[in-house]
Amino acid sequence: MRGQADFAQSAAGSTSSNPATVRSGASLSSALSPSQSHAESQQQSQWPDASPSGSGQTLAHSGASDDISSVPDALLVSPREGWDLHCHTRFSDGTKTPEEFIRDAVDLGLHGVAITDHDTWNGWERATVAARKAGMPLIRGTEITAHVDHTSVHMLAYLYDPENAEITRMFAETRAARLARVQEMVRRISRDYPQVTWESVSAQVREGSQTTVGRPHIADALVAAGICSSRSQAFATIIKSTSKYYIPVPSPTPLQVTNAVKHAGGAVVVAHAGDRARNRHLLSDDRIVELIEAGLDGIEVWHRGNEPDQRQRLAGFARRYGLLMTGGSDWHGAGKPNLLGENLTPDETVQKLCEGRFLPVVGA
Ligand code: AMP
Ligand code: FE
Ligand code: FE
Ligand code: ZN
Repeated sequence: MRGQADFAQSAAGSTSSNPATVRSGASLSSALSPSQSHAESQQQSQWPDASPSGSGQTLAHSGASDDISSVPDALLVSPREGWDLHCHTRFSDGTKTPEEFIRDAVDLGLHGVAITDHDTWNGWERATVAARKAGMPLIRGTEITAHVDHTSVHMLAYLYDPENAEITRMFAETRAARLARVQEMVRRISRDYPQVTWESVSAQVREGSQTTVGRPHIADALVAAGICSSRSQAFATIIKSTSKYYIPVPSPTPLQVTNAVKHAGGAVVVAHAGDRARNRHLLSDDRIVELIEAGLDGIEVWHRGNEPDQRQRLAGFARRYGLLMTGGSDWHGAGKPNLLGENLTPDETVQKLCEGRFLPVVGA
């Protein structure tokens, strides 16, 4: 298995070793209409009705403030209308297809959505077709796995060039490392639970080699075998990060991810940085400042894992450094209790997030 050092290498000479990525890459351009050609995508997108949410979110973008403890309480709760910028489908560990995702977003009356499967853009093409048909504005994004200071960090990347060499290499390496890591975890688990085999786990992987494999697929096999009652119970026991079966995912650092996304013309937001359930030690203030210096665009404040004190902290950073504050559900279909649209980002924030990026918003 590869270590972090591999991710520090130059992108030069590296190409995707992931056939799924290459295959999808070839077909991605055909999914883009002429109005979404790479040349035109450099233009500022036409924005659909940027109606104010009425929840006072513009305060979040008022620029520098010396007193980070003075974030108004109104800013600590998600707006009631807007965009869900954090959603997973079967192309990673969500349980629904991109088509079902778009249909659910329409049913809920969301202003727009972002598809953010882990370490891949393989779901973009199908989500794009479904979003166009349904008239649902769509941001193409990815939740990128990172690691620093023994802390797992997730970075939401939006509207970047999917053919960028650094991005392509990063995803290929992380996905290969994830696969090897899940296979080794399954070998360890099967010594104590022989019903759990690689075959039983891969039966839970819904989009074949296009799927980013992770612990949730092991959880689903444990549930199918009757060993666990739910994904959540599996995560609380056999596959928790302190379990003897657990192996971390070798990943780039958040700084490497931020640099790669910025070079690829995208927007980058640090996800659920205040979620204590995920890490013994949260991403430190110094590390967040390091990301801001590298061009971090925003902080996901409205996420169910961020408790009020952490929302204060993260919103404080946003105000002090003029970053965007975003919200997202981290919806995984039936794979997690998180409900689509339970946390949202206001229209005017989405507009700033998307301005001048490599890709345009689909349907904008
Ligand atoms: P991995 O990246 O393979 O280590 O798996 C972590 C993923 O599992 C995260 O992306 C979460 O979406 C998912 N996850 C974490 N905890 C739970 C839980 N309690 N129930 C369901 N899914 C979870
Ligand atoms: Fe996930
Ligand atoms: Fe995450
Ligand atoms: Zn997520």
